[in-house]
Amino acid sequence: LSEDLRAALQSVCATAPDATSYEVDWTRRTTGSALAVCLPASTAEVSAVLQVAARHGVGVTVAGGRTGLVAGAVPDATVVLSTERLTGVRVTNGKALAGAGTTLAEVQRAAAEQGWAYGVDMASRDSATIGGTVATNAGGLHVVGHGTTRAQVLGVEAVLADGSVVSRLHGLAKDATGYDLVQLLVGSEGTLAVVTQVLVRLVAPPRSRQTVLVPLASVEDAVRLVDRARREARGLRAAELLLAAGVELVRDVDGLPPLPPSPVQLLLEAEEGLEDVVPDDALVASDAVDAARLWAYRERMTEAIGRLGVPHKLDVSLPQDRLGEFVDALPSVTAGCTTHVFGHLGDGNLHVNVLGPAPDDDRVDDAVLRLAAAMGGSVGAEHGIGRAKRRWLHLSRTPAELAAMRAVKQALDPHGLLGPGVLLPDVVTGGGPGH
Ligand SMILES: Cc1cc2nc3c(=O)[nH]c(=O)nc-3n(C[C@H](O)[C@H](O)[C@H](O)COP(=O)(O)OP(=O)(O)OC[C@H]3O[C@@H](n4cnc5c(N)ncnc54)[C@H](O)[C@@H]3O)c2cc1C
Repeated sequence: LSEDLRAALQSVCATAPDATSYEVDWTRRTTGSALAVCLPASTAEVSAVLQVAARHGVGVTVAGGRTGLVAGAVPDATVVLSTERLTGVRVTNGKALAGAGTTLAEVQRAAAEQGWAYGVDMASRDSATIGGTVATNAGGLHVVGHGTTRAQVLGVEAVLADGSVVSRLHGLAKDATGYDLVQLLVGSEGTLAVVTQVLVRLVAPPRSRQTVLVPLASVEDAVRLVDRARREARGLRAAELLLAAGVELVRDVDGLPPLPPSPVQLLLEAEEGLEDVVPDDALVASDAVDAARLWAYRERMTEAIGRLGVPHKLDVSLPQDRLGEFVDALPSVTAGCTTHVFGHLGDGNLHVNVLGPAPDDDRVDDAVLRLAAAMGGSVGAEHGIGRAKRRWLHLSRTPAELAAMRAVKQALDPHGLLGPGVLLPDVVTGGGPGH
């Protein structure tokens, strides 16, 4: 880091004394190097950091809660811009306006204090930031009820690569005035702008809550049951899949009590009506504490797998009618590895976790992602593409789409300042898109 750049950054905002924890991703699979870590406390400071970086020709990697699972927040000889000081949340008229660095849990708490709920929830809630969830279009546990983050976002304030500020925070229900810059930034993974504030819609909290864990013989049976619950139960908001090996793992690692043995467990949550939908051998939570006990099998999965080693995390989505076939085919492409699959069945979203191959050996990633794509699925369901998956983006995006995405990037960030190495694959001359 040149003394000039260091001095320029320090003149516009606080910097962190030690970059080490910003240089590795949550899974420990990807490491990088930071030129400096900037901690802006206002939109004006974010703008100033970007202008300094542009003047010195260095890239900027935006970091939120750093719970992302595709290494999008890991710097690559870039300046880290952390949103951790852009906090605070205000709830008015069924909407929450939050600083980008506010955690998901804080947004949920603020909503609940005013009698509302926020439609997005996930196990990383205490660290993941609202800005990070916008940047990745996070899904989570309640997509089946409320949609992904995209469906909650009403507005953002963001700083573009040239330091200019765009602000769409009016929250008007109707606004047909041209390109939707707010939605363009949802899922842009820190490559188009730094999101500094987010306005989200809130939802009515559930009137009542039923949580059940259903043992089933196959993934196909689980898909059929979710379909029925959608039609017949009221207010279905979660439909989570666990397989026997995963249940055993969280039991071993976390000491949870055993469940009756079954190849598949389906966790369903709805407001009412589940008793008419699930079979008699389902475990039904009697109260909130009991519900948390059932949720523990699902919520502790990611951390339990992380304790086994450095997982290759492959987050894919499939058409509902191919989910069972995909799970059955996985052993053929993950032979010799330990594989744990779980996920948000209601969204056709499976998390394939493979342990065994070295972190930099991506042959198994390639095989699993190609299998999903061949079955009409997506190679990035809710975690994004980040640095970890950009090589495979072309499996889910056509050459024309990739060209349009590059054109957007070029227009908003012509010098490639924001999120270098994230999302868009390098252009390979002489070959096709990606490689
Ligand atoms: C235990 C666990 C459970 C999880 N469960 C789920 C789940 O159910 N569903 C799900 O979707 N994800 C899940 N995740 C993944 C992760 O929590 C989400 O991707 C989350 O949205 C990341 O938020 P973050 O603040 O940690 O972002 P980071 O990891 O810091 O960043 C993620 C990406 O967003 C960019 N970014 C961050 N903040 C901004 C900003 N303000 N402006 C512009 N770009 C920004 C970064 O550059 C990076 O590319 C889980 C992770 C863990 C560890």
